[in-house]
Amino acid sequence: MTSTTGTVCPHCGWPDGAEPYQVVSRHGTAAGSTVWTRCACGSLQVRSVDARGMRVVSRSRPSATPAGRAANSPCR
Ligand SMILES: [Zn+2]
Repeated sequence: MTSTTGTVCPHCGWPDGAEPYQVVSRHGTAAGSTVWTRCACGSLQVRSVDARGMRVVSRSRPSATPAGRAANSPCR
């Protein structure tokens, strides 16, 4: 599974390079910022934004299942 710009959501086909369906939260980091977005299918995505642009670094499954590994809990 790749997580680079130019790919699409494996669940609904939403292009990663397009405008995020919904921005959940935005956090500033030393390298730039991290943006949590929700896809049209409900998948939560973590996007890293730096000087090179925005890329999806992690995404959850469409339904908010307790993944166990990555604790996806942005600001709530
Ligand atoms: Zn999707």
